[in-house]
Amino acid sequence: MSDQIKITFPDGNVREYPAGTSSLDIAKSISEGLARKVLAAKVNGEVRDAFRPINEDASLVLLTWDDKEGKAAFWHSSAHLMAEALEATYPGIKFGYGPPVDNGFYYDVDLGGRKLSDEELPKLEKKMSELASQNNPYTRKEISKKDALDYFAKKGDEYKVETITELNDGEITFYQQGNFVDLCRGPHIPNTGFIKAIKLTNIAGAYWKGDEKNKQLTRIYGVTFPKQKDLDDYLKMQEEAKKRDHRKIGKDLEIFAFDDDVGPGMPLWMPNGGAMIEQLEALAKKTEEDAGYERVKTPHIARESLYIKSGHLPYYADSMFPPMAMLTEAVKEEDRPINREEIKKELFAKELTPERADQLIDKMLKLRKELPQERYYLKAMNCPHHHKIYAAVPRSYKELPLRLAEYGTCYRYEQSGELFGLMRVRSLNMNDAHIYCTEEQFADEFKAVNDMYLRYFKIFGIDKYVMRFSTHDPKKLGQKYLDMPELWKKTEDMVRNVMTDAKIPFVEVPDEAAFYGPKIDVQIWSAIGREFTLATNQVDFGQPRRFGLTFKNKSNQDETPIIIHRAPLGTHERFIGFLIEHYAGNFPVWLAPKQVAILSIADRHIDYGKEVMNELKKQRIRVILDDTSEKIGKKIRDAEVKKIPYMLIVGDKEQQEKKVSVRKHSEGDKGQMAVDDFVLALSKEAAIP
Ligand SMILES: [Zn+2]
Ligand SMILES: [Zn+2]
Repeated sequence: MSDQIKITFPDGNVREYPAGTSSLDIAKSISEGLARKVLAAKVNGEVRDAFRPINEDASLVLLTWDDKEGKAAFWHSSAHLMAEALEATYPGIKFGYGPPVDNGFYYDVDLGGRKLSDEELPKLEKKMSELASQNNPYTRKEISKKDALDYFAKKGDEYKVETITELNDGEITFYQQGNFVDLCRGPHIPNTGFIKAIKLTNIAGAYWKGDEKNKQLTRIYGVTFPKQKDLDDYLKMQEEAKKRDHRKIGKDLEIFAFDDDVGPGMPLWMPNGGAMIEQLEALAKKTEEDAGYERVKTPHIARESLYIKSGHLPYYADSMFPPMAMLTEAVKEEDRPINREEIKKELFAKELTPERADQLIDKMLKLRKELPQERYYLKAMNCPHHHKIYAAVPRSYKELPLRLAEYGTCYRYEQSGELFGLMRVRSLNMNDAHIYCTEEQFADEFKAVNDMYLRYFKIFGIDKYVMRFSTHDPKKLGQKYLDMPELWKKTEDMVRNVMTDAKIPFVEVPDEAAFYGPKIDVQIWSAIGREFTLATNQVDFGQPRRFGLTFKNKSNQDETPIIIHRAPLGTHERFIGFLIEHYAGNFPVWLAPKQVAILSIADRHIDYGKEVMNELKKQRIRVILDDTSEKIGKKIRDAEVKKIPYMLIVGDKEQQEKKVSVRKHSEGDKGQMAVDDFVLALSKEAAIP
């Protein structure tokens, strides 16, 4: 070990420090202000405690509240703090797992038969605040398996004992803050003083290790923040999110429905949802046509062999619907031999253990025995079908880039516990496309895809977004990543340049790329500040090789194209779920399921109302006529509740003058207008952007 180590910062700067310097010391050497914000650090790609010494040359990313991993360390440390408060309040209780989650943390606790009620949570919060303000450091200690077992056996915590039993000696660590010691891998924040605002949100039951044969523990959820204001904002947002819940608004506005006979996770789009889908597809088709895409259409099912070729089987088998056996079609097993070693190698690259890989392959072989007929699967992705369209005719460089687009319907077998409104479903319609291009064309194509994302963000008023750019680790080429070092470097550089030039906010996440290429996960924030993962934009060097896709280059030789998978509008399900929250159901005119409601004042105005309706329908305006004999005030309220952008009131005066009285949703009276003028103005507003 040399006395000095070289630390490389994300901007490429390199500085020297004495060996044994901690990330926190390094932060201090930059500024005290920065050091006060550092929660953890990524050292050579591994997230660690900021207080751990670094002993070798390393790349360093200091993690703060603004980083996902920083938040995770903060919330995980809060779980320890909650455990400390629980133990102080109810001595002798036992602890299961206490991980961070998307919005906070939880800890599973065995309260020894005691029931915890919501009323007790404020008392616990207070205890946590008191402990937090002691500024107790989190300390890390490596411990032998024997000593670790002794400690928790003496304490009488069989859950920790069971967990330790499954760990290897030499990789066990304890963390302590104040009087509380926990078995933990870390990482943790420097001290409890960072935790300034605490809210325990929920109590639920949870089986030990998620297995219903095991004992049920009490799961306590909480969320914490470095500032009181952050907590206040969070609670306000939660409140607003409840009001904007897409499941509630979707039902109230009759956008979609679920039905037990149809099956869980399979939304039925009602006419209002159908109208929105038509509009979104019209937008996508127009945008894609302008960008040189061509539309294709593919079946919803395919033979097993397609998915073995694509690698979705057996890797993805658990997420696909079980296969259908076609009794009339004979099987020719030699059509699709299974090369166990090859598949295993591939599954290993996807970070599955050899045991798990064997399990998946065995499952597939067992299925073949049980269903010796031809097996067809519902498609979980559109890509393999599109690759077959590429392969259907010989391709020349002159045809590239080839951009194949389809609003493809896919089916995924999500676990029933995972299903959630439109956000997690089993049937989905994807704004899919695959771009087949040469290496030289890649940068331009990638830039064009990016521009399309930005154009959509503008249309939908999405002001906050981040691209999470996952790159490879050169040390893992040939194992976790396809062994094509040049192509990795080239494409990653190009992607990085495109995003930097376009000033697109992005974070680079090393060592998280897919097996076959770098990828970008697009995260967007709704109007009330809630985060959604919209879509993935993926570079792929693997599939073209698996499918043997080629084109003749200028020197008439076979070359392999690069594929870009992209889906800027994600799926209809997730995107409309997002839009409902984003707009609180008050959709812009072009997207609104119903754009105009005509309200007749009395029965004698119904005929004129119909006349106006027909004028609007001629312009393809989505219009309804409320010709009930309700009072006009009631009709206006109804249309307001339905969030219809425009109301046209027709009475004696309007009828005589061929006019309408215009009201705008949530704004009120806009005065009288000639029917023609209104139609003209509205047609502009209703046009696909
Ligand atoms: Zn921990
Ligand atoms: Zn794809």
